[in-house]
Amino acid sequence: MTWQYPAMADNDSRSGMRYDSDAIRDYVTRTHAGHDTALAQAFAVPADMPAIQVGPSEGKLLFLLARMIGAKQIVEVGTLAGYSAIHLARALPPGGMLHTIEFEPSHAKVAQANIDAAGLGSVVTLHVGAGRDVLPTLAGPFDLVFIDADKINYDFYGTWAIEHVRRGGLVIGDNAYLFGELVDDSDRGRAMRAFHELVAAACDSVCVPTPDGLVIGVKK
Ligand code: SAM
Repeated sequence: MTWQYPAMADNDSRSGMRYDSDAIRDYVTRTHAGHDTALAQAFAVPADMPAIQVGPSEGKLLFLLARMIGAKQIVEVGTLAGYSAIHLARALPPGGMLHTIEFEPSHAKVAQANIDAAGLGSVVTLHVGAGRDVLPTLAGPFDLVFIDADKINYDFYGTWAIEHVRRGGLVIGDNAYLFGELVDDSDRGRAMRAFHELVAAACDSVCVPTPDGLVIGVKK
């Protein structure tokens, strides 16, 4: 008799949506991506800042990806309160460095305090400024670039990342569904689609169906 998998025989299941629930998300987050004190502090964004950090599982995924490729030189665009920066910096081997870029000085101040509290001040350089201005001052090659800032500039960030990431390094971009606006006829939609297409052309890539899409590319 042929084994059947009737419960998986639809496209929603294969997209990863079918069995998701609050209880399941709580369980898997607790089991695989729990917070210690430093992560909890950075995740608890102050009330006067937007709570737009990555989720715990995505943060842990960033840590794992960086660790899997032995990433020693990492760039992040969009620091907020330092939550993803702490995940990425914890993956660094001795001698490694994370450059993280934040436009809002008030966010950068909170992030620096959280990064210092995590004991990572010596391996994280926080640049206060616009990604478009700071990135050209950074000398590569880099092992991993994580893009999580203003969406209108994702095409610029993607172009820069592909030029500065080593072969076999990673280009990662969050909010790749653009809050549901990815295929809209808008400047942000065009910028995000250009990012997808740049990464797809230069890398072996996927857009993981996280709540807002996470592009991961390994540079060819
Ligand atoms: N990666 C962070 C995390 O998961 O913990 C979240 C980053 S949040 C989604 C985006 C951040 O990018 C905000 O703090 C925002 O101020 C910053 N930002 C916006 N425009 C920027 C720009 N042009 N250059 C650098 N940072 C920018």
